[in-house]
Amino acid sequence: MTTPEPGDGLRPVDVLTVTDVVDITPSVRRVVLAGTPAAVAAAGPTVNLLVPRVDDAAPRWPRVAKDGRIVWPDGAHGVSLRSYTARRQDPDAGRVEIDFVRHGDGPAAAWAGADYRG
Ligand SMILES: Cc1cc2nc3c(=O)[nH]c(=O)nc-3n(C[C@H](O)[C@H](O)[C@H](O)COP(=O)(O)OP(=O)(O)OC[C@H]3O[C@@H](n4cnc5c(N)ncnc54)[C@H](O)[C@@H]3O)c2cc1C
Repeated sequence: MTTPEPGDGLRPVDVLTVTDVVDITPSVRRVVLAGTPAAVAAAGPTVNLLVPRVDDAAPRWPRVAKDGRIVWPDGAHGVSLRSYTARRQDPDAGRVEIDFVRHGDGPAAAWAGADYRG
């Protein structure tokens, strides 16, 4: 796949920021994310989440085509796409909650299990 040049009608992905993390049980971690009302409204009930590698300071994010298609950059990008069910979603408050089951050692489980609050 060839990475399109800027001006190709692709837009950046929506950014959600971690605002809180609560360990509900030893194997379930609730992550609270904040974003624009439009991004949160588009997020549910199924959230297509792009998860960076833990400690990757410069993940190469894909972009989004006008028809909603995700366009990935060429080569290694360090980003994984996973689906989640929004436990609670409040577009007006710009807030969405996701319960991550911490099973296995896949990219999303590692990301959710990391202490990324700084
Ligand atoms: C519509 C939809 C909604 C989803 N909602 C949620 C959600 O709300 N919360 C959530 O935590 N996950 C949810 N998932 C699963 C999620 O998309 C990921 O598959 C999961 O988080 C594992 O991602 P990973 O990158 O850590 O592991 P992967 O790289 O995908 O897999 C790593 C290892 O974990 C194992 N594994 C993957 N999924 C499961 C599972 N469900 N049970 C046991 N072992 C598993 C794999 O067999 C593999 O050994 C949902 C999936 C779909 C399709």
